Amino acid sequence: MTKAEKKYLSKVANLGCIICYRLGYAGTIPEIHHARGIGLGMGVRSSHYDTLPLCPEHHRGNTGYHGMGRKAFERQYEVTEQQLLEQVKEMLNDEENQSS
Ligand SMILES: [Zn+2]
Ligand SMILES: [Zn+2]
Repeated sequence: MTKAEKKYLSKVANLGCIICYRLGYAGTIPEIHHARGIGLGMGVRSSHYDTLPLCPEHHRGNTGYHGMGRKAFERQYEVTEQQLLEQVKEMLNDEENQSS
């Protein structure tokens, strides 16, 4: 992992769980979920830039991405993994615009 990637991941983690955020509980300590296979061939590990902050429950729990599987997860929260990735990138952009 490069320095820039590490910095990006720590910024993603600082956002808190993206699903909790959408549900109105901001600031839950997240784990980093690597989105796979979006815009890539099957089985190709995605880049560190295609990552989502998800709390342990929304990541691995019964109501989480890996607990439910991607399709059920997307139905449950009415959002696709791709849309979540875009939301994370927008939130990081906003942060940068505010601090400069
Ligand atoms: Zn969460
Ligand atoms: Zn994951």
